[in-house]
Amino acid sequence: MNGTSLPTAGGQVPEWTPDSWRSKPIKQCPEYPDREALAKSVSALKRLPPIVHPREIVQLKQHLRDVAQGKAFLLQGGDCAELFDYCEQNAIESKIKLLLQMSLVLLWGANKRVVRIGRMAGQYAKPRSSPMETVNGRQVPSFRGDILNGFHPDERELDPDRLVRAYHHSSATLNYVRAAIASGIADLSRPLDWGLGHVRDPALKAKYQKAVDFLKDMRAFLHTIGAENEKFHTVDLFTSHEGLLLEYEEPLTRLLDDPTSPPSRPTKAYYNTSAHFLWIGDRTRQLDHAHVEFFRGIANPLGVKVGPTTPASDLLALLRTLNPAREPGKITLITRYGADKVGELLPAHIRAVEDSEHARTVVWQCDPMHGNTRSVNGGIKTRRFSDIFSELQQTLRIHKEQGSYLGGVHLELTGDAVTECLGGSEGLDEDDLSTNYTSFCDPRLNEKQALELAFLIADHYRN
Ligand code: PEP
Ligand code: MN
Repeated sequence: MNGTSLPTAGGQVPEWTPDSWRSKPIKQCPEYPDREALAKSVSALKRLPPIVHPREIVQLKQHLRDVAQGKAFLLQGGDCAELFDYCEQNAIESKIKLLLQMSLVLLWGANKRVVRIGRMAGQYAKPRSSPMETVNGRQVPSFRGDILNGFHPDERELDPDRLVRAYHHSSATLNYVRAAIASGIADLSRPLDWGLGHVRDPALKAKYQKAVDFLKDMRAFLHTIGAENEKFHTVDLFTSHEGLLLEYEEPLTRLLDDPTSPPSRPTKAYYNTSAHFLWIGDRTRQLDHAHVEFFRGIANPLGVKVGPTTPASDLLALLRTLNPAREPGKITLITRYGADKVGELLPAHIRAVEDSEHARTVVWQCDPMHGNTRSVNGGIKTRRFSDIFSELQQTLRIHKEQGSYLGGVHLELTGDAVTECLGGSEGLDEDDLSTNYTSFCDPRLNEKQALELAFLIADHYRN
């Protein structure tokens, strides 16, 4: 494939190719023992069609530009680790519905258009802090996500065949998302059809009803004055995952026509067609390493996780490398410090960006989950709802004080009535965790806890 040199303010930077990451140091990289089987999977992936189209990627980028400029709000959510088994009608529908319910609340509260991105249709690779773990007293390789190995302790060997299975599960999931949306699952004129499945709390139900009534009235008004348009009957839902496994991302990265180039002078760009949006995780965002090298050549909008170990100076260097043209909305900074650290760390990060030439180009997004993970009862991973709520509340306040715009949230959630995070208005305690704990990785918010967070944001912007 052709290489490209990407100009930056400091002059020419080294040539980029889809495989230039291979000459860099890399973290979290699987050592496949069977290189031949790996090569076979990679060449199968190279032949398969794109999962998403550059036009959709460009459309999302335009929405994210609006978010960066304070005109829209970004809601991103889904499982920590998506399993191939979640590629099933009910699981997909309940996630879409929850994202829609939350966006309805946000639309009502923030009075801004909501851009939705699912952590789904490809969120199959997980970074791990330790290569081995103990399961039932036995030391086995850690579960690294369905794209690498299996959750069952007997299936922990790396299996390159899973790369191709991931492609097919990702495509089947997205196919059903598209079909469900095209068939009216997201029709804003029927919000009650999205029913508050497991939520029993009368106060929360009443609040939700208020938001629904408001939107119904607004729709009736628009209908009366003849201003109703098809946007009311359909929504977009984009897909995302952590761009961790470059053996998968590289063959799905293609040099394709750039839909934004003029027909008289068409140009091409490298699109990662595995998802609309990809993010670089907290463990793999080293400036001179492989992941940053790979993603600097990709035209998709990108996220970067930012945490307590990110020096402010790295932040600017990352933006200069990943977004040399300073396109607004190209980079989403996904901040995840923890409730006890956000107050100390976020202001300096905001200043580093907003006082630089990248001011107003980034989307600031709060991930109140990953800085608040803890273990209880001898090793069950959980998060306290109060910590999650507090980090989000502090983040909203700090952005307001700093004159910047918190444009989005990034959540781990599920439409199922799981008991994985402690607290919330149901007051789940440590003994309740075992009632319905089904996550294979990090603990997720259930429908009720997720809606409570949406109301926190809505109330912030309404007041
Ligand atoms: C994640 O989003 O599931 C994750 C692993 O996050 P982080 O990279 O922020 O730790
Ligand atoms: Mn996670």
